[in-house]
Amino acid sequence: MIAKVIVDVPSRQTDRPFDYEVPYEMQEWLELGSRVGVPFGGRVLQGFVIDLTESASVDRTRLKPIAELLDPVPPLLPDMIELSRWMSDKYCCSWTQALQAMIPAALKGKEERQIGLGEPDEEYGLPAELKEWIANSGGLVKLDALIAKYPQHLKAVKHALAKGTLTQQSSIKDRLAVRKVLTVFLPESRLPLEHALEQVPARAAKQREALQWMYGREEPIALQELAQQTGVSSASIKPLVEKGLLELREVEKERDPYAHRQFTRTSPLPLTEGQREVFGRIAEALDARQGRTMLLHGVTGSGKTEVYLQSIQYCLDQGRQAIVLVPEISLTPQMVERFKGRFGDAVAVLHSRLSSGERFDEWRKIRSKKAQVAIGARSAIFAPFEQIGLIIIDEEHESSYKQEESPKYHARDVAVRRAKQHGAAVVLGSATPSLESFAAASRPAANPGASALLPMPYRVGGRPMPPVEVVDMREELRAGNRSMFSRQLHAALQERLERGEQSVLLLNRRGYSTFVMCRSCGHTAACPHCDISLTFHQKSRVLRCHYCGHAEGAPAECPECGSEHIRYFGTGTQRVEEELAKLFPGIRVIRMDVDTTSEKHAHEKLLKQFGDRQADVLLGTQMVAKGLDFPYVTLVGVIAADTSLHLPDFRAAEKTFQLLTQVAGRAGRHELEGEVVIQTYTPEHYAITTAQTHDYAAFVSEELRHRSVMGYPPYCRLVLVTMSHEQLPLLSTVSERFAAELRELAEHEGVLAPLGSGLPRALEVLGPVASPIARMKDRYRFQCVIKYRGSIDASAIVRRALQPFTEGPQQKGIGFSVDVDPQVIL
Ligand code: ADP
Ligand code: ZN
Ligand code: ZN
Repeated sequence: MIAKVIVDVPSRQTDRPFDYEVPYEMQEWLELGSRVGVPFGGRVLQGFVIDLTESASVDRTRLKPIAELLDPVPPLLPDMIELSRWMSDKYCCSWTQALQAMIPAALKGKEERQIGLGEPDEEYGLPAELKEWIANSGGLVKLDALIAKYPQHLKAVKHALAKGTLTQQSSIKDRLAVRKVLTVFLPESRLPLEHALEQVPARAAKQREALQWMYGREEPIALQELAQQTGVSSASIKPLVEKGLLELREVEKERDPYAHRQFTRTSPLPLTEGQREVFGRIAEALDARQGRTMLLHGVTGSGKTEVYLQSIQYCLDQGRQAIVLVPEISLTPQMVERFKGRFGDAVAVLHSRLSSGERFDEWRKIRSKKAQVAIGARSAIFAPFEQIGLIIIDEEHESSYKQEESPKYHARDVAVRRAKQHGAAVVLGSATPSLESFAAASRPAANPGASALLPMPYRVGGRPMPPVEVVDMREELRAGNRSMFSRQLHAALQERLERGEQSVLLLNRRGYSTFVMCRSCGHTAACPHCDISLTFHQKSRVLRCHYCGHAEGAPAECPECGSEHIRYFGTGTQRVEEELAKLFPGIRVIRMDVDTTSEKHAHEKLLKQFGDRQADVLLGTQMVAKGLDFPYVTLVGVIAADTSLHLPDFRAAEKTFQLLTQVAGRAGRHELEGEVVIQTYTPEHYAITTAQTHDYAAFVSEELRHRSVMGYPPYCRLVLVTMSHEQLPLLSTVSERFAAELRELAEHEGVLAPLGSGLPRALEVLGPVASPIARMKDRYRFQCVIKYRGSIDASAIVRRALQPFTEGPQQKGIGFSVDVDPQVIL
């Protein structure tokens, strides 16, 4: 048997399957999707089996055998292999990268080299001490350990390796193993208790107690837990084990990050009319098993989650599994509780705040079919279920569903593709759908049969949408108010304090940078390796570059002019917090931003405190806008609505509208009525006026008009190619040539035409031009933007154009990075 293996080398030349012989003893075990260690260029590397055949593409006798099989159960399912192939084509990434994205970090094995003793050699003796150490360590030691212990003998070791006095072996070591727990058992054939006790000295009271306790319990118990429950130390257990009265074995144990929490079981709520209608349509799609995609457009508070829950139940009843994606930041305990409360242990939770061990174990619950529902952030789309019935993407407009490093995939597009493979239904849910999804769902041609738009325009219980007041901050300034709080917001906050109700304050973080500026000469601290200002970190008082990690101490005087009038602009939220404390003495504020939520579980802790009404105000960045549901929040204030409006990004208005609508939805979700105050310098902008009236349709029609005029999605699609190199002239020449290559290929396909031409299929190449961040990590950056419309395989054109530059004679060390459907092109 021959295995075709994708080997984990990120180079483009090796981005194809290699043939290996399957050793006889592995034949039973090896499957499609198995993870293996294979010899490759003198090393052992990790790879994935993507095909098993009888015929080799090269001379059979020259095939090397697979060195090791790394898991008893393959981490990948056959459909995922196909999916990875599609991803690597669509997103122009290597096949390895696509495969790696699908498995948990714990399974990203690393080569481990071990050194052993070889032929004895008299001429060039290694230090006896070193040889002895190896012999005493079972004949094999890790290379890193050897280097650490004998750094002075490195040369001799290298020499010995070359001569064969020492040998080298490689294997793949997982970053993280299954957790094993020392567990105490009663032996299979055991003595009756009184005979067992005869073997324990009378004065060993603790030992006798432990033995009696174990006989009373019968069940095995973790050593640590036994110690906790009986107060008997593990030292007292040891003699019992030595005498054979008890047994101690390692047992695999899954870490359960939610073990300490109790979830109250909930039953399905009787659906409202609007919910019932939508649920019916989803159930229909589940019955049809055709891989349909639907857009659930439901206002905040319309009860989308209950619809999700009942749809999942329907899917589970069909014997199929469900994946729920939510933005990382919304994956709060509250959110998890709603799912665990309904489906209990059938739910596996995957998110980045878990340790990689915990995540691995949640993943194994899915792979071993103990869980039927996976809820998680972006990468949960790769949950290894065998029969997916339903994929839900909540807050589908969120940009965090796009991965910003390679493979630069969008979970929504992967979901649609995966659903096709499984005949599963996809439900995209949002109060403010992305323009792309909205346009796709409203276009009947794309969804033959019926429109895939499922509207839920009303809040549950007929609760009104909260009234939104827009305050013109220019007026405030004219009236002599220089504070960051308008008179209206000030009064509204005061009122909440008096009534003992809570407020949420949002500071639109983008645009509020935390930089250092000299007030005498205007100098700002910039990264020496990137064209970007350094960010000031108040806690550690260092300046840091967010692109390359460069860090330096914060200067006391201006490096440019020597002036002492240097000013640190702390995080926006810190300044707001200070101002609040000044204006409302005694006010209790919980601040939620990158600084206060960097620790594990900090985010959850802060939310819990706020939920327990330990604070009057929850102040934060975008984080506070999502998914929170607190009954005593009756005021939502937006401190600066338009900081995100003027970014040179074609989605600026859309992002602003979404943010305002989301945050406004946090108010008055329960009995108490809510109120929203939005402060802005551009009250007439349509993103703000339509957010004020909760009018998504009006926003969309205005925004679509702009997009159509400017030639942006959803009227076309984009591919962004960024090129980088240390030398500007070389970069400039090569990127010109690359753009020419693109145009030539498009011409050849007969699609090269301006988008304005009105042709149904058109592709144009803009650039190359300098990137908005023109230098990063000492490399200059140029970019090309490809805009196209109609059924064109733009990825294929890009891949073909790249070929001579990445593997052919043209290759000049230029870095190429391709972003298909980029979220930001700035
Ligand atoms: P959305 O996600 O659409 O913003 P939620 O799912 O959070 O809305 O629902 C808003 C509130 O309405 C929640 O408190 C939820 O428990 C409640 N709710 C949802 N559906 C029903 C129903 N059918 N009957 C009663 N209450 C409901
Ligand atoms: Zn200066
Ligand atoms: Zn930098």
